[in-house]
Order: sequence, then C-alpha cells, then structure tokens
Amino acid sequence: MMKCISCGEEYEIDEIIYTCKKCDSTLEVVSSHPDISKDIFSCRKSTMWKYKEFLPVDETKIVSLEEGGTPFCKCDKLGSELGIDLYVKVEGSNPTGSFKDRGMSVGMTKAVELGVNTVGCASTGNTSASLAAYAARAGKRCIVLLPAGKVALGKLAQAMFHGAEVISIRGNFDEALETVTSLALEGQLYLLNSVNPYRLEGQKTIGFEIVDDLGWKSPDRIVLPVGNAGNISAIWKGIKEFHEAGFMDDLPMMTGIQAEMSAPITNAVRQGKNTIEPVKDPETIATAIRIGAPVSAQKALRAIYESNGYADTVTDDEILSAQKLLARKEGIGVEPASAASIAGLLKMVESGEVDKGEQVVCIVTGHLLKDPNTAIDACVEPLEIDADVKTLSKIINKQ
Ligand SMILES: *Cc1c(COP(=O)(O)O)cnc(C)c1O
Ligand SMILES: [Zn+2]
Repeated sequence: MMKCISCGEEYEIDEIIYTCKKCDSTLEVVSSHPDISKDIFSCRKSTMWKYKEFLPVDETKIVSLEEGGTPFCKCDKLGSELGIDLYVKVEGSNPTGSFKDRGMSVGMTKAVELGVNTVGCASTGNTSASLAAYAARAGKRCIVLLPAGKVALGKLAQAMFHGAEVISIRGNFDEALETVTSLALEGQLYLLNSVNPYRLEGQKTIGFEIVDDLGWKSPDRIVLPVGNAGNISAIWKGIKEFHEAGFMDDLPMMTGIQAEMSAPITNAVRQGKNTIEPVKDPETIATAIRIGAPVSAQKALRAIYESNGYADTVTDDEILSAQKLLARKEGIGVEPASAASIAGLLKMVESGEVDKGEQVVCIVTGHLLKDPNTAIDACVEPLEIDADVKTLSKIINKQ
C-alpha cells in the first residue's frame, strides 16, 4: 500500500495518486519485509534488480536497462589529504548517465502494470533524459517539460533523441513541475517525477549497494547533492529497510549539500525546522539542483534529523573547483551538481563537521558529459599546430 507521511492515510497500491487527498503531503510505499537471507544476493548479476525482493513491482513486467551496480571507488589520494576514508559512488555510470535511471526503472515498471499510455515529467534535465529512454523501452508516449534555456546540453540531446515530446517552459523547474502535475491530476499523463513514490523505491537501491559493497556495514556518513530532495529520502529509506531486515547494525549520518542560492532544506536544518521556506528564484550553475520548492522536503528533513545528519551549502565556485579536483586527482568525471557532494565534503572537513578518520561515501549523481559546455568553459582551448614533430617537441618540452 501507499501511506501519507504526515497523517498516515492509506491508499491502494494501484491507485493513481501522487499526494495525500486529506492533507496534501507526499506518500510512501509501505511493503512487508521479505523474509530472506542476504546471502541470496551474492550470486546475482550486479544490477539494482539484484534486490528485487525489496522492490514493490510485478517481477514479470520489469522495464530495465540494467541500471545500478555502479562503481564504488575508493579514493585514497583525496581521502588521505582530508584525513578520512573516502568512497565515491559513481552514479554517472547508469544507462543514461544519472541515478534517475534507478527510479525510472521501477516507475516505468509501475506504469506498465497500471496500463497507462502516456508518461510525463518536469525536469532540470536528467529526469527527462531517463524518462525518455525508459519510455522508449516500454513503448509509451513521453512528454517532458523543461525550463527554457536552463538545461545542460547532453541532457537535452538525450531527451530529444529518445523521442520524447520536449516542451520548453518559460519559467523555472518549480513552475514546470506545477504545470505538469496539474495535467497529471486531470489524468492526461502518468507523472514520473520523484513525487511519485515508486521513483524513490528504485533510488533506495543506492543505499542497498553501499551497504553491500562495504561488506554489510554502514559508512559513518553519506554525502549527496540535494535538489528536489527525493534521492536523500530514498537512500535513507533503503538503509532503514536493510537495517530492519537485520542486514547491518549501524546507520549513517545523512548529509545533504545544496547550492548557496537554492538551499531551502539547508536553511530549514540550520533553524531546526520541520518545514521549508521555498526559495523564489533559485540560482546555481549546478542546474540539476536549481530547485526552490523541493517536493520531498519533509521526507528529506526527516532523513537528516533521524540519522543525526547534517546539511550545508556550497558556492558555484566551490562546486566548479571540486568538480575539477575529482576529475584530475581521481579520474572521476561528474557534472556540476554531483560535485556539490565533494565541495560540501571539503567544506565540512575544514569546519570540523566531518571528523578525522570518518568513513564517508560521497554520491556523485551524474556524468561529466551531461554538461559539456561547463566542462569546456573551465579549461583552456587546445593549441592548434601543423603536424610537425619539431614544433610538437618544442611545445611539450617548454616550461
Ligand atoms: C536529480 C539530480 C540531483 C538531485 O536529486 P534530488 O533527488 O532531486 O534531490 C542531483 N544531481 C543530479 C545529477 C541529478 O540529476
Ligand atoms: Zn495525509
């Protein structure tokens, strides 16, 4: 069943509904815990469906591009400089290059179960790229709303190329989401933004994989960028499910990082509040987290408070320099929003929020190639020369 996170109202699993009819809060999927041993996972293929007993859909209808099972890179160079034990979970290695694929796989499977014809979303880019690909795979009509002029090039290319009907909205993400939600409530499409609780069911597998990769242990802390706040809520849900299943003993501090000018969740945490004050004109170069009114704010705040976690902000300059640092010191190329987790980590080590010796997992949410323009702007142009050995030799030996 689905359950309202505020008033506890319950809804049937096959009802098409996104928020509570009584109090308008978000819903979450509640399933009974499978009575299984964690040993059954070890011989399965390394995709997120490895944990299918924890995913509330019909196994015969799964729509998958083999998402999940992403790299879990130990980053000793950066970690030792910071005096911590650092792992980076590389979500850019998913089929369309972001963690959204995990949520979309479960969400699209649900769309198939429900028998809907048309799916849709508002997106800062990655949700539309992912939805377009999974809609193609499932054979569904796909409509996506994007904030005009604010979507990174790679994401736009993906949404268009996979055949989505792409519509640019004169307005920001929050306004696009409001518009498409109204359309969904009229029954014109099945909404696959992260307000749809099935999206979060898929994304909770990030939590499963971290625990599995660490040998059925929790890290001290999980750090990730926060935009619409679905992912931090989802990962915490996954971690708690494995904890309740007895697969692990400890719990991590859930730590969310937002861009300074788009930080409603961090603002609330700093004031110890349980609700957010929306940011009217959110701004940041990290377009994937350029969101002022996160739909999963309540779930995210719960995750942070329940886990004794933390929230911080970073500037665009800090994001860009962390993006370059990760690329050049560890060889991991991520888009700007993803680098917010690394930028936040650097800031929290400096401030003493992160202790020496802590085991920290940073989630890097999307691939470098999602936003090639920002990457190119951060570098100097290549020198152009004739194909001549002497000239070449001169150039590479100077300095
Ligand atoms: C969607 C997205 C985020 C933000 O995730 P939320 O669940 O909206 O908080 C961060 N980084 C990237 C690359 C994304 O695509
Ligand atoms: Zn309710």
